[in-house]
Amino acid sequence: MGDDEVHNVIIIGSGPAGYTAGLYTARAMLEPVMFAGYMSGGQLMLTSDIENFPGYPEGIGGPEMMMQLREQAERFGLQVHDKNVERIDTSLKPFSVWVEGEEHRAHALIICTGAEAIWLGAEGEDEQKGRGISTCATCDGAFFRDEEIIVIGGGDSAMEEATFLTRFASKVTLIHRRDVFRASKVMYERAANHPKIEIKTFRQVKKWLADEKGLSGAVLEDPRDGSTEEIACTGAFIAIGHTPITGFLEGQIETDESGYIIPKEYTMTSVSGVFAAGDVVDTRYRQAITAAGMGCQAAIDCERWLEENIH
Ligand SMILES: Cc1cc2nc3c(=O)[nH]c(=O)nc-3n(C[C@H](O)[C@H](O)[C@H](O)COP(=O)(O)OP(=O)(O)OC[C@H]3O[C@@H](n4cnc5c(N)ncnc54)[C@H](O)[C@@H]3O)c2cc1C
Repeated sequence: MGDDEVHNVIIIGSGPAGYTAGLYTARAMLEPVMFAGYMSGGQLMLTSDIENFPGYPEGIGGPEMMMQLREQAERFGLQVHDKNVERIDTSLKPFSVWVEGEEHRAHALIICTGAEAIWLGAEGEDEQKGRGISTCATCDGAFFRDEEIIVIGGGDSAMEEATFLTRFASKVTLIHRRDVFRASKVMYERAANHPKIEIKTFRQVKKWLADEKGLSGAVLEDPRDGSTEEIACTGAFIAIGHTPITGFLEGQIETDESGYIIPKEYTMTSVSGVFAAGDVVDTRYRQAITAAGMGCQAAIDCERWLEENIH
C-alpha cells in the first residue's frame, strides 16, 4: 500500500502511547494513519493481568485491553496497518516512512515504538515469563504476597525494585554477577540494610526451575569457578535494563547514549514536526498509563504544530 497522498500524521507503534495518540488525532479530524509494527498492541500483549490501569476495577488481560484501545481509536477513523516501519527520512518535508519497500508521506510523525526489557536468556526462561518471572515490580509485585522473590541486577533499578518488593515478599534475595554495583551508594545501602533483603554476589542464573504452579526456584552459578547452588523462589524480577526501539531512526532523531529519544520542546523531538511518546522516551516510569498520557500530549502537540506550520 504505497500511496501518493500526503497524510497529516503517521503514528509508528501500537502500544498504549500509539493508540492514545491515534484516538486524539482521529477525534481532531486529522485522519491519522498508524503502522502497528511487529508486535501489534505492544508490550501488554505479553501479560495476562493488568490491575493498575484506571477504569478496570476487576483488572483486565493485556491483549483484551489493547483490543479495546484499538477499537476505540478505529471508531473515530484511525487507519491501522499491521506492518513494520523499516526506516524514515526526515531530511525533506513532507517526511517519508518506508514500509515493506513502499514510501508513505506525512507532514508530521508520532513515534511510539516503546522499549524492550532485557532478559537474561537462562534455560527455561521463556516458559516461565508471566508465570513467576517478570521485568516490572510496579506491575507484578503485588502478585507475590508473603512469597520468596529474587531480583537480578546491580544498578539503581535493581535496588529500587528489591526495596519496593519488600512490601509484599517475605524475603527478597538480590543476585548480582559481580561484587561491584553500578547503583548509587544511597540506593545500594537502602537495599543492603533492609532486614528482608539478602544480597548474593558472584552469582548468575544458569537455569530456572518450575513445578505445576509456575516458577519454583533457580540454579545459580558462580562465574568465577562454575560451582552451582539452588535457590527457592516463586517470583523473579529481572532488572538489568531496557532497550528502546529506535534503531530504525538511523540517527536522524537525537537520542541519549542508550538510544532513548530526547524530547526537545514538550513531546517534540530534535526534528520539528516529529513527536515521540511512551517508553521510547521514558527512562523512569514505564507504565501503560504514563505511555497513554504521553500519547495524548504528543497528539495535542502535533495538532497545534500542524495548525501553525501546515494548515
Ligand atoms: C510482561 C509485561 C507486563 C507489564 N505489565 C504492566 C502493567 O500491569 N501495568 C502497566 O502499567 N504497565 C505494564 N507493563 C509496561 C507497559 O507494557 C509499558 O509501559 C507500555 O506498554 C509502554 O507503551 P508504549 O506505547 O510506549 O510502547 P509498547 O507497548 O512497547 O509498544 C511499542 C509498539 O511499537 C511497535 N513498533 C516497534 N518498532 C516498530 C517499527 N519499526 N514500526 C512500527 N511499529 C513498531 C511495536 O509493534 C509495538 O506495537 C508491562 C510490560 C511487560 C513487558
